[in-house]
Amino acid sequence: MLAEFDPSRPGKAFYDLGPLVGPLDGVSGDVLCCINNGQGPSVLLFGGVHGDEYEAQIVLRRLADAIRPEDVTGRVIIAPSINFPASETGKRLSPFDGQNMNRVFPGNPQGTPTEKLAAFATGSLFPAVDLLIDVHAGGRDVSVVPMVFGFTTPTSKVGEAALTDLMEAWGYDFVQHVEGIRETACGAAKEMNLASIEVEGGGGRLKTSELETMEGGLRRALARYGVLAGAPAPARFRGVHVTAGPEGQYVADAPGLVEHRVALGAQVGADDVVALVHPVAGADPAPRSIRAPTPGYVLRQTEHAYVARGQLIGNVGAPVR
Ligand SMILES: [Zn+2]
Repeated sequence: MLAEFDPSRPGKAFYDLGPLVGPLDGVSGDVLCCINNGQGPSVLLFGGVHGDEYEAQIVLRRLADAIRPEDVTGRVIIAPSINFPASETGKRLSPFDGQNMNRVFPGNPQGTPTEKLAAFATGSLFPAVDLLIDVHAGGRDVSVVPMVFGFTTPTSKVGEAALTDLMEAWGYDFVQHVEGIRETACGAAKEMNLASIEVEGGGGRLKTSELETMEGGLRRALARYGVLAGAPAPARFRGVHVTAGPEGQYVADAPGLVEHRVALGAQVGADDVVALVHPVAGADPAPRSIRAPTPGYVLRQTEHAYVARGQLIGNVGAPVR
């Protein structure tokens, strides 16, 4: 692997993220792959901002291995496990500082290990591309439908219309509309006028079908963006645009055991029973009914059977158009 990061180096190069970021005792680092083939669009993909979001780390490692320079027009940079200290311990947060990487952007090169990683991304990787694709998943705690959401600014290379077109090219059922958070990777990108898309999908145990969905979506979007040959985008978007604010969350009103009554992605009406919470004590077996707080689609469901009072069971996204 190469030691000096040079995003303009022709062809395909692998770097070790560890030494690029600085000494982090106890972890070995991870690959950073950079593929250049002439002029064209440029994209940075990273996974594992949350180390327990495993799907992206598998899919992006596969893509870094599979994509050949001749498949690319422009530049593709891939960091499968950008938060490698967390990934190597199988945890959501860094073992060094307990920080949530998606709340420390733009980072600090003199800060904690997590802040250093974020600073490397914003300082060295963001300036080398016109689009960030930050791939997440549900992690240990929740399962999430495959969906995307994105951000751009009037001076970003990828404008509003192109961004929407790209998000629809994923071929997913859901494009989410959310308020950005400044301290996330996408939030920091927006501050730098870099367009970004965050990808969601999966969680809990790994399922082959979810890995295939994630890889298929990424390949279609990269093809539509013009940076990768291959998988054509679907002819027409068949999904829905949804909002996913706190008004769509449903939580346990007492401790108990969750039985999801609808499938992830299911369309629900207001007051439809979306889950039952069975008692964990007493002689009365009658469960409490949890109803959809708003009409829409179930976007997230907890992976936990036991929930405490106030704990999230799921959320419903309402259609926006
Ligand atoms: Zn995440």
